[in-house]
Amino acid sequence: MKEMEYDVLVVGGGPGGSTAARYAAEKGASVLMIEKRQEIGSPVRCGEGISLGWLEDYGIKEDESWLIHRIDGAKVVSPSGFTLEINAKMAGNEVGATIRRDFFDQMLAEMAARAGADIMVKTSARSLIWDDKHNVAGVKARCNGEDCIIKAKVVIGADGFESQIGRWAGISTVLKQGDIATNFQYHMIGIDIDARFSEFHLGSIAKGGGYAWVFPKGEDEANVGLGVTLDMIKQGGEPKRLLDRFIDKHPELKKGKIVEQVAGAVSVGVPPDITVKNGVMLVGDAARMADAITGGGIRNAIRSGKIAGETAGEAIEIGDISHINLYEKRWRAEMEDELYRDWMAKNKLVTLSDEEFDDLISALSEADIENLSVYEILEVVKEKNPKLVEDLMSFL
Ligand SMILES: Cc1cc2nc3c(=O)[nH]c(=O)nc-3n(C[C@H](O)[C@H](O)[C@H](O)COP(=O)(O)OP(=O)(O)OC[C@H]3O[C@@H](n4cnc5c(N)ncnc54)[C@H](O)[C@@H]3O)c2cc1C
Repeated sequence: MKEMEYDVLVVGGGPGGSTAARYAAEKGASVLMIEKRQEIGSPVRCGEGISLGWLEDYGIKEDESWLIHRIDGAKVVSPSGFTLEINAKMAGNEVGATIRRDFFDQMLAEMAARAGADIMVKTSARSLIWDDKHNVAGVKARCNGEDCIIKAKVVIGADGFESQIGRWAGISTVLKQGDIATNFQYHMIGIDIDARFSEFHLGSIAKGGGYAWVFPKGEDEANVGLGVTLDMIKQGGEPKRLLDRFIDKHPELKKGKIVEQVAGAVSVGVPPDITVKNGVMLVGDAARMADAITGGGIRNAIRSGKIAGETAGEAIEIGDISHINLYEKRWRAEMEDELYRDWMAKNKLVTLSDEEFDDLISALSEADIENLSVYEILEVVKEKNPKLVEDLMSFL
């Protein structure tokens, strides 16, 4: 059986994996990233919406090969059509874009390769292997159709929402049904949209437990999707039916043609109590780090990937694998408050009726919000509708 040996093995070639591989390699560790699909980033299962302000912190240069459509802001639309327009000023210049996710993921993998990481596609981790002290020693895998063993001192689980690495390492990443969003999305052409804005539609259209989105990819095309938490779903195929109903209600979308469809799940929960154990680290969706309000997880996969990769690289550099335990402290210091705050806000939002969504969005759209923050939103809503903010007072 083919055997390989590396300092750090990264399982999964998404944004979290490629970023972890890049930063570990930059620290001088020998790194292999494996990806079970035969092409990084493909097929795409993503709305492809991101904000841009943070990319440079990770050395990512904006490039037209993957950055296909810039937007000026977002519109948040209530069930009766009240609209909150979030512009660049309110969002602290955190304006967004729609990307070609396959090209974006490939660009991140190329950055990892340039930093010195090896990459193997069509290679799937099948189980973890352990040394006699029960520290991870690598994985058993299928490498291009053949069994193989990849030995490593550190294994980074970047294997996405359906992650197995955490479970194999004894880390419970099980989510409650209300913390799983199931999504269905069409790529539509020939629609009549304001391509300067992405749209988020709230309320019973997504059974109150999610939202429908329109992320423009050009003047007459967009990713049009809908996500709903699993606890709201009574029958199979419901996200698709809800999305079809949403499109039916919007003539500007209904006139378009569907050229592609995707389905997939994302965590809208919070990370497990531990994300490092016996030489195994979890990043991105594998560690349930997607934002609970939007279900967006690309940025947090990259944030956690950097921290994990750097920490693993340092552990190799100083010859002390226990150093990777610092990852827990480091990502929590940077990201945990934000993840919990958004999860609590999501848990409140899913309890709102259509009338309350109307009240909330109309109050916000009438207010002159300078800088969109949870604090400011709550202040405005408190003035107009104190009952709505009662449960959220702890944020203030
Ligand atoms: C329909 C939908 C729409 C979304 N829209 C957005 C959006 O608009 N914006 C946003 O920010 N986020 C969005 N997300 C979430 C976003 O896609 C994820 O949060 C992000 O991809 C997480 O990155 P990751 O690297 O952690 O995992 P992933 O990108 O999921 O990468 C994991 C990789 O691991 C590989 N893998 C799994 N198991 C193994 C194994 N055993 N061996 C080897 N390889 C393995 C997989 O093939 C995959 O390539 C959306 C998700 C869905 C489902």
